[in-house]
Amino acid sequence: MKVARLGDRFKIESSDKENLYNVDLAEPSCDCPSFIYRRNECKHIIAAKKFAEEEARTEKDVLEFVSGNDADIALLHKKFGNEKINQMIRLGDLIERDGKVRVLAKEL
Ligand SMILES: [Zn+2]
Repeated sequence: MKVARLGDRFKIESSDKENLYNVDLAEPSCDCPSFIYRRNECKHIIAAKKFAEEEARTEKDVLEFVSGNDADIALLHKKFGNEKINQMIRLGDLIERDGKVRVLAKEL
């Protein structure tokens, strides 16, 4: 099942690959017939939850790996995937400078 995240919303491919359903985990809701008629957690919502959990777990792993010492960006890309690392840099969770990555200390 293909999953794509768009902010807080997810697009999930149907099992027959004919449709793309929109899942909003905040509600949670899905626009597939199963959710519309039964109002029960459908397989798309479950897939989106699983995807979000997986993402959070990877982020935690990255932060733990980087925390305390600068990490080489090439190593991070290799270990956790380009997309995830670039996303975390873009969102400001990580700072990249001269090929080294560090965790941005969050101030409250
Ligand atoms: Zn659904």
